[in-house]
Amino acid sequence: DRDRLLRLRGTAAQTLDGVDISLHANIELPGDAATALAAGAAGIGLFRSEFLFMQRAGSLPGEEEQFQAYRSVCEAMGERPVTIRTIDIGADKPLERGSTDSRADRGLNPAMGLRAIRWSLAEPTMFLTQLRALLRASAHGRLRILVPMLMHVREALQVRQYLTQAQNELRAAGIPFDEAVPLGIMVEVPAAAIALDVLLPHADFVSIGTNDLIQYTLAVDRADEQVSDLYDPWHPAVLHLLQRTIALTHRAGKTASICGELAGDPQLTDLLLAMGLRQFSMHPSRLLPIKQQILRADCGKLEQALPDILSSSDPQATAQSLWRGATPLH
Ligand code: PEP
Ligand code: MG
Repeated sequence: DRDRLLRLRGTAAQTLDGVDISLHANIELPGDAATALAAGAAGIGLFRSEFLFMQRAGSLPGEEEQFQAYRSVCEAMGERPVTIRTIDIGADKPLERGSTDSRADRGLNPAMGLRAIRWSLAEPTMFLTQLRALLRASAHGRLRILVPMLMHVREALQVRQYLTQAQNELRAAGIPFDEAVPLGIMVEVPAAAIALDVLLPHADFVSIGTNDLIQYTLAVDRADEQVSDLYDPWHPAVLHLLQRTIALTHRAGKTASICGELAGDPQLTDLLLAMGLRQFSMHPSRLLPIKQQILRADCGKLEQALPDILSSSDPQATAQSLWRGATPLH
């Protein structure tokens, strides 16, 4: 079975009815790019840059060290797109105590506190350093910048201002960068999904972080085992937000991707295809099983069942009964 999967590595990810799907990899450190390529990734959909900052007791990485890390991923991936997320520190990913700044560890409720883009906007020096490093690396590949946990237009405007400032600084110093580097937002707070219309004009692309989106939609801590049975990707509220986010993003002529664990779960592949999702990003080890699922799917047939599934009180059971035959069950 493993051999069969490995043979899929060079096969195009295309459904039975000829729809091309982009399968990207999530990585945590630059060295993971090789693993992503070995698994046949068409790009990096999520480089969690905070891993460069974690488990460091002393100083945090400066512009040069970050630049080298981002550039090495861009160079490893060549023509393939590389989506690098700005630091998503706080909550389940704290900085070491005693490091330059541990404010993100001190909130009353870290999941709802100063984390991700909120932290970056509270630390403009750090944020500008990261943006300059990212821009410099953009001269060495197809780099895209992704902002975590954004939920307010005000935040989007501030991010754009800092990006412009970093660009001006590099331009003044004669340092090359991609003038058209795409800037995307993660939809991982329900507010961002609900108010997507007002955020979309500020985003070149959208990546849905289902790990957090499920946590915040259902008020179920993603890491709390006492409530892990309530952490349900099939909850109608979650499906509604996913469907809406994908549809609105596509209607605006932009790309929607999912980079949460959902994207790597073969039980959900059919549903996500039915919703119109055409880009998935996942742990490299999930790429081949998901590709196998895609090769057996027929988007046209899957789409027909979507309204019944979305209006069902038990979407998972409805999907299973409607799709028996459309795609072999797992
Ligand atoms: C997510 O929330 O789905 C996501 C991809 O980000 P992280 O898991 O790093 O919070
Ligand atoms: Mg997240």
